[in-house]
Amino acid sequence: MDADLCTGHGRCYAHAPEVFEPDDEGYNAARGEVAEVAAAQTEAAQRAVDSCPERALTVRER
Ligand code: SF4
Repeated sequence: MDADLCTGHGRCYAHAPEVFEPDDEGYNAARGEVAEVAAAQTEAAQRAVDSCPERALTVRER
């Protein structure tokens, strides 16, 4: 996830709390990191990606 694009709207962790959580300032706690997502959580992760107005989240398959 792109640390420069995340502005802390909080939609990602609101739509997919099982995948993302906020940091103390309301940004996605995984800002600037690659988050590994379990197969069972891919739908939730996609919801988060789709909900981000800044397009800060990108899905990459391994
Ligand atoms: S990743 Fe997107 S929706 Fe989530 S806190 Fe950052 S800007 Fe907001």
